[in-house]
Amino acid sequence: MVACDAIAWTLGEPVMVLRGGWNRVTGRQSRIEVHAIVAARGAIPARAWRHEPALSNSKLFARDRWICAYCGSRCHEAELTREHIHPTSRGGRDHWMNCITACRGCNHHKGSRLPEEAHMHLLYLPYVPSLHEDMILRGRRILADQMEFLLASVPSSSRLHG
Ligand SMILES: [Zn+2]
Repeated sequence: MVACDAIAWTLGEPVMVLRGGWNRVTGRQSRIEVHAIVAARGAIPARAWRHEPALSNSKLFARDRWICAYCGSRCHEAELTREHIHPTSRGGRDHWMNCITACRGCNHHKGSRLPEEAHMHLLYLPYVPSLHEDMILRGRRILADQMEFLLASVPSSSRLHG
């Protein structure tokens, strides 16, 4: 992208310098500085226009900080489940706002009941992550200055701040 002049702007210090061949006329070596945060010129990929990130178990558990919404225990991913607050068997949607992280025991105990029917109370509430928060939830390796950039646009209501 740098070589094709496709970068509109960069943020922060370069994280890497790539050196190429020597120019016989100028006697200078080609050099490309790679920045951790870049803005691309031109068309925006279609997926950037999505309003909401796709729901997955690993991102849901990360949103909820791996804590069961009913008993409050912090669990490994293998012990957690995607719990539908309003059960799908009773018309509940498979959506960020109807999904919460629950341990296997609590999910099994609640079954296909509403929380109030099961006398189980949510310790925290669901929310739809922003697209920048989604990049963090995906759990890929994120450099410190990239994280700072992403967190700056994550709503203050996000659990990532807490
Ligand atoms: Zn639990």
